[in-house]
Amino acid sequence: MQYISTRGQSQPQSFSEILLGGLAPDGGLYLPASYPQLADADLTRLRGMSYPQLALAVLSYFITDIPAADLKAIVDKTYTAAVYCNNRPGTDANAITPLLVLEPGLGLLGLSNGPTLAFKDMAMQLLGHLFEYVLQKTGRHINILGATSGDTGSSAEYAMRSKQGVRVFMLSPYQKMSAFQTAQMFSLQDENIFNIAVRGVFDDCQDLVKAVSNDHAFKQQYHIGAVNSINWARIAAQVIYYFRGYFAATDSNDQPVSFTVPSGNFGNVCAGHIARMMGLPIRHLVVATNENDVLDEFFRTGVYRPRGSAHTFHTSSPSMDISKASNFERFVFDLAWRDGGRIRRLWSAVEQGGAFDLTQEQDDEDTLFGRVPGFGFRSGSSTHAERMATIRHCQERYGLMIDPHTADGLKVALEQRETGVPMIVLETAQPAKFEAAIVEALGRRPERPAGMENLEQLPQRFEVMDADVEAIKHFVAVRV
Ligand SMILES: *Cc1c(COP(=O)(O)O)cnc(C)c1O
Repeated sequence: MQYISTRGQSQPQSFSEILLGGLAPDGGLYLPASYPQLADADLTRLRGMSYPQLALAVLSYFITDIPAADLKAIVDKTYTAAVYCNNRPGTDANAITPLLVLEPGLGLLGLSNGPTLAFKDMAMQLLGHLFEYVLQKTGRHINILGATSGDTGSSAEYAMRSKQGVRVFMLSPYQKMSAFQTAQMFSLQDENIFNIAVRGVFDDCQDLVKAVSNDHAFKQQYHIGAVNSINWARIAAQVIYYFRGYFAATDSNDQPVSFTVPSGNFGNVCAGHIARMMGLPIRHLVVATNENDVLDEFFRTGVYRPRGSAHTFHTSSPSMDISKASNFERFVFDLAWRDGGRIRRLWSAVEQGGAFDLTQEQDDEDTLFGRVPGFGFRSGSSTHAERMATIRHCQERYGLMIDPHTADGLKVALEQRETGVPMIVLETAQPAKFEAAIVEALGRRPERPAGMENLEQLPQRFEVMDADVEAIKHFVAVRV
């Protein structure tokens, strides 16, 4: 399998060649040159598999340059009941992503049983093992520099801790994350993990990472890398659980299922799009946003209009507080018949601070926006009050506590449900991670998974620094 860029001006590459990188040299995102096509017999073969077996089967379509036995070993140590042990009492830890049935035709796919209680562990844990494997093979090492407002940073650190050849330098806004999120990251004592608390906000952290990455000489000399959400391997790993969820909700391959996905950077739902393109019988992919509704606006109107940071709201589902959806380009590439020239033109408007309108993009008889229903997409959004009401509704009606991101999803799923088509909401985090929102909604605290009761009391290891590019570079340079 070769990978091509959405902007059409980069050389095709293999999986291992794009694993450690970010954007393609032409500024685009990598996608498979073509999607594997699964027939009914393939689905039947996958249906009975355990999670690690299914992961190996799905990843084998995308990763053709790692020997099968090595890939199997990587997958087997990633998807274990011990790693995804933070499952709800009464669910099967071996399921890895258990499907909780709320009522007939409505389910919740538990994706947040990993070490940091958010769905990003599903992909990031695999990435940790893949990085270590590829670096060992080539005798190289990497220094991951990242910025986080919470979930991505902790997920990356737990995946990369103690991995050979990998160091992590994670910038976070000083005293701006929840106590739980802060403690999750800062309590790690591993020598290859460096937490840098920046005096500033998340945007300052992100600007620092960009400034360091734009210094190409520094980047090369110090082997600076990233694990951000445009990384192809993360998307590939997320494709697996759409299959798992589909099989758990059906008993034959002729039944369609819809998924609702709490969305920010469009990474999670992009994996659903790919599963659908591979032939998984998905009826609708419902994109759920919070007040930061750039994606909902697109699916309603055809206009993609990223916002500035001044128009990005801080909400009670903070991991979805985005101004632009970095993986969205992957979907538009498919929508636009994989025409890299067209993507370059559309995104040159976006990169100049503008927008594009796909109702104005002619495509034979129709417009590009007219093609969207053929890809199964729907959307909706939620406000703080609706999120709170949905957390209460879910608790009262189904006896189940959900986090505010999953509540954004359930709110929209209930609006978009159709009779006869099971709807699966992806559970992207556990309530324990967002205690303040749960207290506001339900008047009591969520229970924590075993071993996390006293997280905030553990000793913390972090450095407080100013938002100063040279100081950050110096900090990295003397430690690698
Ligand atoms: C990252 C995250 C999301 C958004 O996922 P995308 O892949 O960026 O769309 C939603 N919910 C939670 C809890 C997250 O951590």
